[in-house]
Amino acid sequence: MASSSSRITRTTARSMSLRTRPSILNSSVTIYEPEDIEALSTSVSPEPIPESSRRTKRIKREYDYEPPASSTPRKRQKSDASIPRKVVKATPPKKAKPIPQALAEPHPAPENWREVYDTIKEMRSRITAPVDTMGCDQAQRNESDPKNRRFSTLVALMLSSQTKDEVTDAAVIKLRAAVGGSLSIDAVIKTDESVIAEAINKVGFWRRKSGYIKKAAEKLRDDFDSDVPKTVDELCSLSGVGPKMAFLTLQVAWNLNHGIGVDVHVHRITNRLGWHKKPTKNPEETRLNLQSWLPTELHRDINHLLVGFGQVICVPVGPRCDTCELSKKGLCPSAQKVVKTTKRKPIVPSAPDSPAKVKIELEEDAKYPKPPIDQESMAQLEIMPKEEEEDLPIPKSEIL
Ligand code: SF4
Repeated sequence: MASSSSRITRTTARSMSLRTRPSILNSSVTIYEPEDIEALSTSVSPEPIPESSRRTKRIKREYDYEPPASSTPRKRQKSDASIPRKVVKATPPKKAKPIPQALAEPHPAPENWREVYDTIKEMRSRITAPVDTMGCDQAQRNESDPKNRRFSTLVALMLSSQTKDEVTDAAVIKLRAAVGGSLSIDAVIKTDESVIAEAINKVGFWRRKSGYIKKAAEKLRDDFDSDVPKTVDELCSLSGVGPKMAFLTLQVAWNLNHGIGVDVHVHRITNRLGWHKKPTKNPEETRLNLQSWLPTELHRDINHLLVGFGQVICVPVGPRCDTCELSKKGLCPSAQKVVKTTKRKPIVPSAPDSPAKVKIELEEDAKYPKPPIDQESMAQLEIMPKEEEEDLPIPKSEIL
């Protein structure tokens, strides 16, 4: 206020007459200005006005004030139809790469592989593993329609990744009941995804898998005449289906032997046996190596053989080298000395003429040194925190 008064006083002192007008912003404010503003600019000596004077600045702003236009130039520019808009093209879905079937240079057959294979086969004949009674081939047992049998097999395999056979088997039974008693493509399409999720919520990645099963059923209806396709590439085009599931589906559902189904057991055991020149980093590397030298007639059997062996004897942590014939025969480079622990239950062998096989109970926490294989990749494949995994997309390496 003091600044404004002093300015007016200075103006009147030079005999300049002032005129008044109301502010265009506030009618209760009166603006004082010289009648001859040009004369003022020449006659009044430029006296510095303190920068801190807000009042002075505010009056000046009122002179300069221009009412805003109805829209800013920027907005006008945007709404100008003459300016061409940028067209965002939809990117076409990526074409799936075909699953490789052979190595450029075959892997050499390991020495003594036949003796090792036959020894494992002999051990397997004396034990019953979960895969023998609850494997993916069991999922079709309650279906009579051939299409439903094939679809049940595929669903069981989709549920089986990161899940024990016992849990997978129970989930298939529950899912079949939830969709109306028969695990058909139509029934899954008609069933709400939340109902599917509820039925399979004990398996790993159950949220993701419920979506995958639903999407797979729709794709099978739309692209494959409501049936399971007969090629690996077509099977791998389904959400959540990888090479291991595809090869096993072909073997079980169609009786087609197009390759080896390599899961974590086959990957781990063949590395422990030293069957790869360099330890393989993932199941796909393992599959291509094995397929290049293992006789084709064994491609189907090796999965079942090694899965059961890996479930009971050559387990991921604390392999039972004390009971393994390969250790006794000096055929395994990863054989370990037994670490005595009171927590470890003894294995009771079956009577030689007993028709019943022995189911060996395992201790998960026996402390054995780690075998000399690619521990990092095995850890990724086998040790997944259950709760964390639910909301994450299934890593490609897990869709085997
Ligand atoms: S000796 Fe031990 S590591 Fe080797 S195959 Fe047998 S259980 Fe597995």
